[in-house]
Amino acid sequence: STPLGPGGLGVVRLSGPEARSISSAFLRFAADHAWRPWTATLADLLDDGGSLVDQVVTTYFAAPRSYTAEDVVEISCHGSPVVLRHAVDRALGAGARLAEPGEFTLRAFINGRISLPEAEAVHDLINATTLHQARIAAQQLGGSVSRAIAPLKNQLLELIALLEAGIDFAEDDVSVAGSNELLDRIRPIRVGITRLIDSFAYGKLVHDGLTLAIVGRPNVGKSSLFNRLLEHDRAIVTDIPGTTRDTISERASIGGIPVKLVDTAGVRQSSEIVERLGVERALQAMADADLTLVVVDGSAPIQPEDLDLLAKAQAEGVCLPVANKSDLGFAAGAPPDDFLPVSALSGEGIELLRRRILQAIAPQGSIAPESGLITSLRHERLLRESLEALDHATLAVQSGLPHELLLLDCYAALRPIDALTGATTADDILNRIFSTFCIGK
Ligand code: GDP
Repeated sequence: STPLGPGGLGVVRLSGPEARSISSAFLRFAADHAWRPWTATLADLLDDGGSLVDQVVTTYFAAPRSYTAEDVVEISCHGSPVVLRHAVDRALGAGARLAEPGEFTLRAFINGRISLPEAEAVHDLINATTLHQARIAAQQLGGSVSRAIAPLKNQLLELIALLEAGIDFAEDDVSVAGSNELLDRIRPIRVGITRLIDSFAYGKLVHDGLTLAIVGRPNVGKSSLFNRLLEHDRAIVTDIPGTTRDTISERASIGGIPVKLVDTAGVRQSSEIVERLGVERALQAMADADLTLVVVDGSAPIQPEDLDLLAKAQAEGVCLPVANKSDLGFAAGAPPDDFLPVSALSGEGIELLRRRILQAIAPQGSIAPESGLITSLRHERLLRESLEALDHATLAVQSGLPHELLLLDCYAALRPIDALTGATTADDILNRIFSTFCIGK
């Protein structure tokens, strides 16, 4: 369970009905040992000859109150790779087998302990590179996606039940729902699903991060701004070596979103060919970026090249014009129109710039993680599929098609939601019909 490499501790985890018997085969416990659940117990890890290799702590989680909902034994060894390797080998020798990647979580899902979105969130939590990512994954692990979808699925099931009842039990005097009622029922489901799909704009950012290019003429302060934005001491920063172009890129965190900053520096030489290559690189960086900061030196008059670069950046996609060196005062008395005044030197305006970066990239209103946020492309695709089916359903009602056909659209809307959260059985729907309509009393 712990990555390979020396550490204070390393954990070997066994799951399944034989977890205890297999552990007992290579661990020596005190004479009066009994497997007490959720209790830590000291034990000796032995080699095949019975010699002591490590003193370990075991924790037994009794089914179903364990991560996988099976019996689980966790063995905390000292974190030496050879000790851990040995513990794993001994377990294998005693009848265990190596887990497939993600198998513990898969078992938790198969055994019904967690939903599909929760299982997916485990992965995101483990791979979080910013605290914000971790928080959102933790909310999803706590069921925020399922919770956001549950009421929508409920409404859809009620609609299906209503239609099924109208068709199957017509002779039992179940009144057939009118078009307006049907539309009134479809609308809130569409609204809810649309909101979740919209949240993906921000969710995708949290999940994947964004690429930010910084372009501008030489000496306007691109590198200084780059370093300012890096939040070196606040974010996890890793160098990304081996970029083929003469650009520097580093990972930073802005508002908890992982940001890959690309500085198109190194273009200072005035020799024409180098200059031209530099411009090409800057253009390439702009094309690759989600957002481009176009930096000018606000303390000097704006040059035609500045405006030229700005026009190119605007044509490439989303860009933010920035007037740097505000500490020196502005050549024109005020920052140029639409340029955000900042000083990479003093830090003035940098906080606002960070906020502007987030605003430019994440549409306002899409940032409400508490109410359920979609960060997975899989979820987004499925929700879109569902929405499309609901659009068909709306059309079917409006054109007065038979309810049998409308039902097909409703089931088509339900299927992707099921795929997202876990299946609905036909029993679910039948139960609803009978509990809602009291048929056959
Ligand atoms: P680049 O060529 O665009 O990457 O520019 P640099 O970041 O290397 O900066 C060029 C020069 O401008 C350096 O001497 C910096 O110290 C200076 N500089 C950068 N930002 C500021 C600022 O906000 N205020 C002032 N006064 N000087 C700055």
